[in-house]
Amino acid sequence: MTIHLYNTLLREKQIFEPIDAGNVRMYVCGPTVYDYAHIGNARPVVCFDVLYRLLRHVYGESHVTYVRNITDIDDKIMAAAEKTGESIESITARTAGWYHDDMAALGALPPDREPRATEFVPQMVKLIEQLIAKGFAYEAEKHVLFNVPAMQDYGQLSKRSLDDMIAGARVDVAPYKKHPADFTLWKPSAENQVGWPSPWGRGRPGWHIECSAMSGEILGQVFDIHAGGIDLIFPHHENEIAQSRCAHGSAVMAKYWLHNGFVQVNGQKMSKSLGNFFTVHELLEEGFRGEAIRLALLSAHYRQPIDITREGIQDAKAQLDRFYRALAMVSDLAVEAAPTDHVLAAIADDLNTPLALSELHELVTKLNKATSQAEKKVAKAALLGGAKLLGILWQDPAKWLQSGGSADDAAVIEAQIAARLAARKAKNFAEADRIRDDLAARGILLEDSSSGTTWRRA
Ligand SMILES: [Zn+2]
Repeated sequence: MTIHLYNTLLREKQIFEPIDAGNVRMYVCGPTVYDYAHIGNARPVVCFDVLYRLLRHVYGESHVTYVRNITDIDDKIMAAAEKTGESIESITARTAGWYHDDMAALGALPPDREPRATEFVPQMVKLIEQLIAKGFAYEAEKHVLFNVPAMQDYGQLSKRSLDDMIAGARVDVAPYKKHPADFTLWKPSAENQVGWPSPWGRGRPGWHIECSAMSGEILGQVFDIHAGGIDLIFPHHENEIAQSRCAHGSAVMAKYWLHNGFVQVNGQKMSKSLGNFFTVHELLEEGFRGEAIRLALLSAHYRQPIDITREGIQDAKAQLDRFYRALAMVSDLAVEAAPTDHVLAAIADDLNTPLALSELHELVTKLNKATSQAEKKVAKAALLGGAKLLGILWQDPAKWLQSGGSADDAAVIEAQIAARLAARKAKNFAEADRIRDDLAARGILLEDSSSGTTWRRA
């Protein structure tokens, strides 16, 4: 099985060759925990969950190490604590809990390791000391800064030159900086601010050094895949590369750099700063199902921008209804899930999830048309195998199709189905039809098959 991945570092699709097939290592930048995750934050989690599933399928579940960090030191968290009076520990614990709940609702597998920045401060200090010793960083007014011109080939990932960076409006020029592009590795904390002891006084790390320290400590100085949203290419990933490569003297930090495109609203990037975002939590509260949100996110190729709308999620739910209806009709057939070569090839081709999905729809058509048990088994096994790679169709079909009402409601429906059956046995077809129409008027659809009558919500 050959996997092709688009490597941002080289701007081309490459054959994926792990450094060690016995332990394929990938790192995805995780959340800064101070608020609910918006749908744009969920996209890398869902897209790279498909990559994780693919790697586990190809190399074996115990041969992949997936690390996704939690940034629990950040000025935004400190600002939130200052504003509300809630402690930083309480904010980060609560928000990380929300994040776990929301990502689980989207069917994302938990990573193998989830380091928190606060647990790795000594490693960050060590990394900064190495950078100073090698001449890539300097101390100035209790700050430590990375000296960008000291690195010969800085800017390889984002393809930016030093001149571009000086011209960039986002470079803030503090008087203690030797060069306008120099970025912060360590900064001082005031008495009332969270801080750790260091050779440069009590302070806290910059954001970029957190990921360099955590990935290096857990995955090693050079690992296979580093991924995240396209907005992280510069400065975050560029600076991670600068820190890790200069500290370790390595040619690369990770072999393959993957970036997902923006989630958009009417063609504009969804972001907190633009105020045009909605959170995963509020969509779930509104009654949208996590699996439908996931499918909506996978309906475009991960590198393309995607418009996520409530209508789009409804459409994804309708697709899932179709899948689950087909599965409900063959729920008595036991199969061993295994993806078809077509589905596997689509996902292995730089995560072409739209193509994989259209293959799954063809499999549903096959399943619906199948007449023999053998044909049904083959189609069901293929459908479930592909679905496992995409992280969908993990629920009980009957439960999926019936959910949305209360348990009492379900008991009443079952009783009416029994009454209809009794009416039919008594050849009182008018009464049987009346019960069916009555249920249909309430949005409950009955399906009769040789094994009995099942129901679902319209
Ligand atoms: Zn990062």
